Amino acid sequence: MRANSRDWHLFLKQGRNARHMEEFKNKLANLFYGLTPDEAIDKKICIYCKKEVKDFKDEISMREYTISAFCQDCQEDENTGPFRKTNEA
Ligand SMILES: [Zn+2]
Repeated sequence: MRANSRDWHLFLKQGRNARHMEEFKNKLANLFYGLTPDEAIDKKICIYCKKEVKDFKDEISMREYTISAFCQDCQEDENTGPFRKTNEA
């Protein structure tokens, strides 16, 4: 199966509230990153760059970490992060 990371991040954001998607999401995360967001959060590392997670600049970024397990740097990265540079608020 092939999917680009942008599709994946959109899927992650949209699917996070659906309970039955949780398992599938974790399996996908395992495929892409080698661990699930929960595991990354548990270890306090970034799921993408695997670096130790330090401070976040605001509450939104911190909350995003609890969902996507992306560190501040990776969240801000236009290419890797879950936030696309679009008009969506
Ligand atoms: Zn990172």
